[in-house]
Amino acid sequence: MKAECQCGQLSVRLPGPTPAVVACHCVACQRRSGSPFGVLAYYAADEVSIEGETKRFERPTDAGNRFETFFCPNCGSTVYAKTAKHPTMIGVAVGAIADPAFQAPVRSVWEQSMHKWVSIPGDVQHFPKGRGSG
Ligand SMILES: [Zn+2]
Ligand SMILES: [Zn+2]
Repeated sequence: MKAECQCGQLSVRLPGPTPAVVACHCVACQRRSGSPFGVLAYYAADEVSIEGETKRFERPTDAGNRFETFFCPNCGSTVYAKTAKHPTMIGVAVGAIADPAFQAPVRSVWEQSMHKWVSIPGDVQHFPKGRGSG
């Protein structure tokens, strides 16, 4: 199983499915992803392997941490992200995995800025902001 950018230059090989899938409706994730919400699947950084060139963008979070996104310098797709809050984890963009059978989100955060037509179905934990603090 792997995640890759539009042009295929940047890819992340994954060990398989993960239950740790989070939908985030914060405005920064809307802008990062170009979609009404972002969905990341979290893995331990040492269980994935990254191939290709990346560019990195770093921004502060509301909780005072730093959030880094890594994207393909050629086609601009965000393929993965890291947060200083969980330095051993990597969040892989679920859209880059492009598998319709991939695990649905178990957590939906920053619903205070969720688009009105969106609902995340199933057995999901809902948070108006981040979990504890975003
Ligand atoms: Zn690319
Ligand atoms: Zn977000």
